[in-house]
Amino acid sequence: MAGETAGNGAERKEAGLDPADWDGFRAAAHGLLEACIDRLVAARDHPWQPVPEAVRAGYAIGEGGGLGDGAALADRLAREVLPYGTGNTHPRFFGWVHGTGLATGVMSEMVAATMNANCGGRDHGAVYMERAVIDWVRRVMGFPDTASGVLVGGTSQATVICLAAARVRALGPEVRRTGNGGARLVAYAGGGVHAATRKAMELLGLGSGNLVLIPETDAGIDVAALRTAIQSDRSAGAVPFAVVGTAGSVDLGRFDDLEALADLAADEAVWLHVDGAFGAWTRLADPPWQRLSDGIGRADSLACDFHKWMYVPYDCAIALIRDERLHRAAFAARPAYLEGAAEGVAGGDPWYCDYGVDLSRGNRALKVWTALQAYGAGAFGAAITGNCVLARYLGEQVSAAGDLGLVRRVVSNICVFTVAPDAEADLQGEINARVVLAMQMEGVAVCSTTRIDGIVVVRVAITNHRTRPEDIDFLLAAVRRIRDR
Ligand SMILES: *Cc1c(COP(=O)(O)O)cnc(C)c1O
Repeated sequence: MAGETAGNGAERKEAGLDPADWDGFRAAAHGLLEACIDRLVAARDHPWQPVPEAVRAGYAIGEGGGLGDGAALADRLAREVLPYGTGNTHPRFFGWVHGTGLATGVMSEMVAATMNANCGGRDHGAVYMERAVIDWVRRVMGFPDTASGVLVGGTSQATVICLAAARVRALGPEVRRTGNGGARLVAYAGGGVHAATRKAMELLGLGSGNLVLIPETDAGIDVAALRTAIQSDRSAGAVPFAVVGTAGSVDLGRFDDLEALADLAADEAVWLHVDGAFGAWTRLADPPWQRLSDGIGRADSLACDFHKWMYVPYDCAIALIRDERLHRAAFAARPAYLEGAAEGVAGGDPWYCDYGVDLSRGNRALKVWTALQAYGAGAFGAAITGNCVLARYLGEQVSAAGDLGLVRRVVSNICVFTVAPDAEADLQGEINARVVLAMQMEGVAVCSTTRIDGIVVVRVAITNHRTRPEDIDFLLAAVRRIRDR
């Protein structure tokens, strides 16, 4: 067998799981790289498009395979896969909260795939890179340098990790062995909290019924109401254990008053977790927007994404925890076969498997590190500020127009509006939904919808470094054209 022969792989000609023809592979890979770069250069020409039925059917995996790893494979990837993304690389993708991705991701993902590092632990480059990224986030967010962190797939996962550490603080590390027992742990959040927190409560066995939603105003959670709720639950025998503050709510881009929440959490001795999925990155923005997340560094834990407002390719997020001992106490579990060593491959500390659910983990840090090496944090701050400026501009245009209605004040990067302000609620919702769908189907723009005061409205979330002012004008013209016909 060729695999048993030490020596130059390039001379091997037998079929296996490495290219039999490295020169052919090299040529095909170069061609594919060209196709990928061409795609990004022309991102403006490629809005979302539905996957044709024939292409979808062609994705089915039959017995055969056998395309080889040369030109035929590269051609198939370029023609049948590459064009059918979510559309979020396009400058007028404003749906949900989607990052655009970065050209530097093409480089970092290529290197990451080549290294194939397992970042669960041990002593190698990718682990040091993850430490460097976590250290940078700590500084940006104002966490102490003793805080710990771990990169995960998204804010949803990061929320589970953060609340698991909060649970250890409330019930002690024995909770891992004994389960939650009889204590009724209660968490609190504003009404606009993301469903990720509800899911985390469910996964930790705490029950989403024990997530109490507090009314909010334009300035986020009503802090006085929160204090009353905590005190009355405690008198009734429950254990208030965490307050979840939101830095950038998913519907409206609102921010809780994190300074006030940090004061309250200290008074009441509860854990302050912040869901900063996208909004945490206002730390990098110009002052009017940066101020929105003031106080974030006082949280006990923070969950946020790199794949939204740091624009890096999916998926990448961080769980950051102020007290490293609680973080480790919630997750560390190494059987004998995983014991660390003072030196050698099994050296290195921390091992990231001690900070989260995953043992085997990919190299998520590299794409963040690469992007920051390329552009510097200042460029990200400028892009984030630019997105907020565009959302504000959209809000101003909508407000000034007689035929459109701004539904809520624009706080950061999200604008919600109606295209038929004078119609009654149901009809208004129907028109808004149909305009959004038509814009998607025609490749004009991707907005999404949400429901505010019971009415379906158009929602534009700008976490897109390719959007220009002309794109906002184009969007408004398209909205009117489609509504009027
Ligand atoms: C997107 C989002 C989440 C969930 O993050 P994922 O990365 O999608 O798991 C949580 N909270 C807020 C405010 C979000 O916008």
